[in-house]
Amino acid sequence: MRTPIPDYLDELMRDCAGTRGGNVADYIPELSKVDPSLLSVAVCATNGHVYSVGDDTAKFTIQSMSKPFVYAAALEEHGLKRVLEVVDVEPSGEAFNELSLDDETGRPLNPMINAGAIAVNQLINGEESPVPERVDYILDFFSRFAGRELTINHTVADSELEHVDRNLSLAHMLRSYDVIQDDAQDAVRGYVEQCSIEVDVRDLAVMAATLANGGVQPVTGERIISASVARQVQAVMASAGMYDAAGRWMTTVGIPAKSGVSGGMLGTLPGQLGLATFSPPLDGKGNSVAGARIFRRLSQDMGLHLMATEPYGVQTVRSIREIDTFTVVRIQGHINFSAAERFLSQLTSHDIDTQCVAIDLARVSGFNSVGRRIVLEAMRRLAGDGRDVFVYDPDEVLPDPDLGDGTYPERMSDEKMLELQELHGNES
Ligand code: GLN
Repeated sequence: MRTPIPDYLDELMRDCAGTRGGNVADYIPELSKVDPSLLSVAVCATNGHVYSVGDDTAKFTIQSMSKPFVYAAALEEHGLKRVLEVVDVEPSGEAFNELSLDDETGRPLNPMINAGAIAVNQLINGEESPVPERVDYILDFFSRFAGRELTINHTVADSELEHVDRNLSLAHMLRSYDVIQDDAQDAVRGYVEQCSIEVDVRDLAVMAATLANGGVQPVTGERIISASVARQVQAVMASAGMYDAAGRWMTTVGIPAKSGVSGGMLGTLPGQLGLATFSPPLDGKGNSVAGARIFRRLSQDMGLHLMATEPYGVQTVRSIREIDTFTVVRIQGHINFSAAERFLSQLTSHDIDTQCVAIDLARVSGFNSVGRRIVLEAMRRLAGDGRDVFVYDPDEVLPDPDLGDGTYPERMSDEKMLELQELHGNES
């Protein structure tokens, strides 16, 4: 059986491909050369499975999506107390490049706006670090998040450095308030190079999933940051990641996110997923138009709004057992997107060599709509592979299990399930 998740993503991407409006960033001249029709989506579950569709090998610079990760590096290196002396955690409600500091403390309001990010960059690799070593440190740190060696796009960095008055004025402002000590040119160079690290949409999804996974990179298994740092970073992304659109974003989409002027966008669902999109045309606030639309759809279709809580966290697949001519797959708990994804990944990695497959729902408490859709789709595909598909659903948690094509799995009776259980020897 082939997992249906890439098909969902493909459909979603095709639906959003016609999104009009927006302009490619041109204040960094090199960015204006990008093909505006590039489009890709990637999802990384916290079990390390990565799904992607579209132009998923297209490389682009990370830009402001670097900010949460450099903030994480600073927190790891210096601890929250020291980092809070340099940058606050309040949403600014202002544009990303606003010239603003807190009236009373003189600190930037948060690490997601440029003023805060430039200040945070100065903390990395020791506050006395020369710029090249600081940038190497950040590149190495990001590479561990991505699980592969990343590089800097120097053409984009040089292009930005030729048009960098705004960020230079921010650095001067930070110096005048003693938030940073570095020469303004050096401060901006370090920050701009951090923004010019090149990624693709899969890298971003895995990096985001590392935050969602409490700091453990889900593919390599390496712990990169502590769980408390991962929580801090995602909390700040939730309140300030989308700048002056942060409030509307959090209420409608409900996924902590960060965008970049290259057209990338990443999001985290704590405990569940990392998400990423790439589409270069931006709205007036510097967020990818198609990316935002895809995030909105993903949130609605897959029930990903952070505030729409549902009980989850138990092992989804309780057992997969061959009994007589049956493979019995017993699942449990509440089946939302990530539970359904775990079900799929275990089912697809299991070599089914019986004619009949029974999905045992006796321990399932309920489905949300995407969980239901995915499990039905899995059954449809099993039937398509020539299996006889049965469902054991004594509590009717999956009413009307139409497989989407007017066919239904066979209902397994209590007697039959009992018979199989007795053949196998009872399981508690
Ligand atoms: N390097 C860009 C800048 O400072 C990043 C901005 C962004 O992605 N929002 O202008």
